[in-house]
Amino acid sequence: MRTCIVKITDVRSQRDVIEAAGNILREGGLVAFPTETVYGLGANGLDGEACAEIYRAKGRPSDNPLILHVANRRMVDSIALEVTPIAEKLMAVFAPGPITLIMKKKPHIPDSVTGGLDTVGIRMPDNDIARAVIRAAGVPIAAPSANTSGRPSPTTAEAVEHDIDGKIPLILDGGPCQFGVESTIVDCTGDVAVILRPGAVTVEMLEDVLGRVELDAALVGKEETPRAPGMKYRHYAPKVPLTVLEGDPEQMAQAFRDELGRLHGEYKQVGIIASGEVISSLKGLAQEELLVSYGDRGDFSAIAANIYEALRYFDERDVDCLLAEGTSEEELGLAIMNRLHKASGFRSIYV
Ligand code: AMP
Ligand code: MG
Repeated sequence: MRTCIVKITDVRSQRDVIEAAGNILREGGLVAFPTETVYGLGANGLDGEACAEIYRAKGRPSDNPLILHVANRRMVDSIALEVTPIAEKLMAVFAPGPITLIMKKKPHIPDSVTGGLDTVGIRMPDNDIARAVIRAAGVPIAAPSANTSGRPSPTTAEAVEHDIDGKIPLILDGGPCQFGVESTIVDCTGDVAVILRPGAVTVEMLEDVLGRVELDAALVGKEETPRAPGMKYRHYAPKVPLTVLEGDPEQMAQAFRDELGRLHGEYKQVGIIASGEVISSLKGLAQEELLVSYGDRGDFSAIAANIYEALRYFDERDVDCLLAEGTSEEELGLAIMNRLHKASGFRSIYV
């Protein structure tokens, strides 16, 4: 199949392209489109066969449910059996935005969306192109990240093309994504909200609205099965082993110099992803093209927006292994560290 990539700069004047995307989706086809978090691979969320195609295109395990993307409250009510007071409060403050709410599902939601669960993840994206596409399709759109399963999520249309080219008819290119990490997933079905996946809506922001929230036990290092089925899989993985250096920022540059010296002693080519501060302190110790800054230390927005592209950059370079600098786990740092721990398979050096 030939994959068409169309740059969208204005949803109003490019109405014909948006309508074409809506038609493909309504008729059971797949379309990749940008959201404010990462690029999504969309299908008609009420069409079980269309959703099964998503799993095939991504190589996604069948027990990893899909999030349904909606354009308005009416669509929420058409798929949720019940909108709990917690869900109401979170929607009022954070929707549209980078948050997915787990609610009890209505019976007509296909099993290929929910992995057989009696709940469904619902998100209202805050991105003009995503919203226009959902409205044009007229149905909720099931859309996981538009990468091959296990790989870093795509934050540009080029990254989508790299993984999915030839498998779908259309990729809408809306430029780089604003946040760069996937939505926060919050289970709203119980008495207390439970965060199943950290994201751009932070624990601190949720506590401000709800008072109390819990983190899924599997996120805080307990050996429990995560309540978001997808969280048990290796994710975001680069092609070579990645180690995260985390801990005292004062010691970070020295720790990188030590580890780099040790690996060079083993004749390894090492790629480094770190703050501007660490990268400048390593100048001259490694080839320029193997030193990638993900932003200034503590600039979580920049780091989140750049992290997946940095991991993907090294897939195209001749390296034996990667070192990445960890962040603190406050605010958006929790989501960044969750992704880095998964990308590294929890291989860390504590500094
Ligand atoms: P992705 O769309 O690639 O960001 O992955 C979607 C994530 O949402 C996966 O981790 C899923 O396990 C999770 N998810 C989707 N639906 C549900 C649900 N009903 N209950 C719990 N987690 C869900
Ligand atoms: Mg994903």
